[in-house]
Amino acid sequence: MTTVSRPNQDVIRPDKESAMLAEENPFEAMMSRFDYAAQRLSLDPGLYKVLRAPEKQIIVSVPILRDNGETDVYTGYRVLYNTSRGPAKGGIRFDTAVTLDEVKALAAWMTWKCAVVNIPFGGSKGGVVCDPFQLSNAELERITRRYTSAIIDTLGPDSDVPAPDINTNERVMAWIMDTYSMHKRHTVTAVVTGKPVEMGGSLGRREATGRGCMLVTREALKRLRMPVTGTRVVIQGFGNVGSVAAQLMENLGLVVVAVSDKSGGIYNLKGLKIRDVLQHSRQRRFLSDYKEADHITNDDLLTLDCEVLVPAAMENVITSQNAKDIKARIICEGANGPTTAGADKILEQNGVFVIPDILANAGGVTGSYFEWVQDRGGYFWDEDTVNQRLERIMVESFEEVASMAGRNGVNLRIGAYMLAIERVAAVHRLRGMYA
Ligand code: NAD
Repeated sequence: MTTVSRPNQDVIRPDKESAMLAEENPFEAMMSRFDYAAQRLSLDPGLYKVLRAPEKQIIVSVPILRDNGETDVYTGYRVLYNTSRGPAKGGIRFDTAVTLDEVKALAAWMTWKCAVVNIPFGGSKGGVVCDPFQLSNAELERITRRYTSAIIDTLGPDSDVPAPDINTNERVMAWIMDTYSMHKRHTVTAVVTGKPVEMGGSLGRREATGRGCMLVTREALKRLRMPVTGTRVVIQGFGNVGSVAAQLMENLGLVVVAVSDKSGGIYNLKGLKIRDVLQHSRQRRFLSDYKEADHITNDDLLTLDCEVLVPAAMENVITSQNAKDIKARIICEGANGPTTAGADKILEQNGVFVIPDILANAGGVTGSYFEWVQDRGGYFWDEDTVNQRLERIMVESFEEVASMAGRNGVNLRIGAYMLAIERVAAVHRLRGMYA
């Protein structure tokens, strides 16, 4: 990192770098959009203050015994941003980059996302600062169970319902469900979503986020009067979201010309064969080893010539530095927070149609909602029913966001925030202030 020294020995960052860091602070990124949308809605100043503050922030230490007998202590977070519309809902990530600011931003995004698709949840998020790739399965299980027990007072089907996020999966959800159930002395399936189907998971949940991305991209193409068949797509990230979106978009008739994972990207201007790429990555191999295509860096992939770009890996990849070079007409934000507020302005000036994360990847939490409903009802739906209900919600939500944006002369992101804030604020007004 480049630094310059002041005479008093304090170290400051050069202007450009500190501007980039401010641009990339996820909580600031969320707040700058929230503030603008709240202003457009002429939100009551009291409610503005309430909605800007996370309801609850929990920091816990997570001590475990490593396999070699030594003790290590990890830090865990759980933030409940807002629960006015229902139980808090939000994933848990295991990553070395987890910070309280990031968890707060992600919890706020969950609040707005659930309101955009009008499901009866508030928003939360959690994380443990650890490198899961350096931990054995047994160590991961111990971290998961100890973290669960440390935050157990907030968890519950009626209060706070976790789900998988980066580096957590069905197996981690099964451990959380088991730990919670052991404490409660009976099995409580609805305490987490994204569980294995055998223990109360929902058919179609795993594919729901990528399916939602495909559906809103289809609606955007329709709105912009662009064809589906032959339209070129580039996807960053080939995990749960990116790989499913790639397969479903190819099935729809789009041509996926490039995909990437953290090892780099592959591209073929005539279109990749997604089934082959999936087969390759299912063998736990990186795309940098894929032989049947040309190779490209993750940075260059974002500015490839295409009609649709799907960032489906991580935050802050489209910034004020590279936004001007984006050639896609549509960006479908599969990841949370892939575009900085600085980049938004440039994309808007250049006429790029951005389907914002709180709409584009809301298929995941909608699938989770279906799972929670099925667990509570004890009656499980077939996959067609799940997919049909998901399609109805995603298409309706796209229309509602586009209509809010159109009525107010703002872009889709601000339209989505306005719709969400209005829905959350309406419930606060109805409930009144308990004091
Ligand atoms: P995942 O762990 O399954 O996949 C992540 C993919 O991104 C992998 O292919 C990985 O190699 C790649 N990647 C990681 N670091 C990268 C880098 N520096 N450059 C390029 N690629 C990189 O994760 P996921 O569940 O697919 O989630 C991806 C994003 O979507 C995250 O932002 C997540 O919060 C968001 N999201 C996921 C869901 C869901 O249901 N899984 C729902 C809503 C939002």
